[in-house]
Amino acid sequence: MEIEVIKGDITEIQVDAIVNAANTSLLGGGGVDGAIHRKGGPSILEACYAIRNKQGGCDVGEAVITTAGKLPAKYVIHTVGPVWNHGNNDEDLLLESCYKQSLALAVANGVKTIAFPNISTGIYRYPKDKAAVVAVSTVQAFSEKEKLDRVIFVCFDDENYALYNRLLTPEG
Ligand code: ADP
Repeated sequence: MEIEVIKGDITEIQVDAIVNAANTSLLGGGGVDGAIHRKGGPSILEACYAIRNKQGGCDVGEAVITTAGKLPAKYVIHTVGPVWNHGNNDEDLLLESCYKQSLALAVANGVKTIAFPNISTGIYRYPKDKAAVVAVSTVQAFSEKEKLDRVIFVCFDDENYALYNRLLTPEG
């Protein structure tokens, strides 16, 4: 399984599934969530409403899957990252769970290629360096046992891009 890092806009990435940093309501918000709903069109929100009606939204650390509407991807996997609270609320475990649940949902739906944004590092204020360590280590641990072809970390800002490159560059 390849693990890549690129700088760019996740709504433009051609993969089987892109991951959305959603909120518990699943009804859209700012940041990457806003961009995905804006570009993907109303069918994503309709699918989110259907999930809400069935299970009442999505808890922190959990993930759900919908159509990707008009986006180049086939699916959007919506996961809800933790709001950073000085590390006092098991944020690391919850963020790890976001990556794990998203990857498990991808495998269950036949996804081979998946792109992640830097979950929780925007409006939810998770320190970027700490979040990058959780993201990379969780995906690397998963890559040893599961069957995806490619995981792409899509960084929107220079700081995240530099952090991920540092973590993913082989030593020596
Ligand atoms: P959260 O509420 O989980 O912090 P945000 O959407 O505010 O979610 O931010 C998560 C990350 O997504 C941030 O690093 C932000 O810079 C990044 N981001 C915002 N828009 C996009 C986009 N179009 N593509 C990829 N990443 C994006």
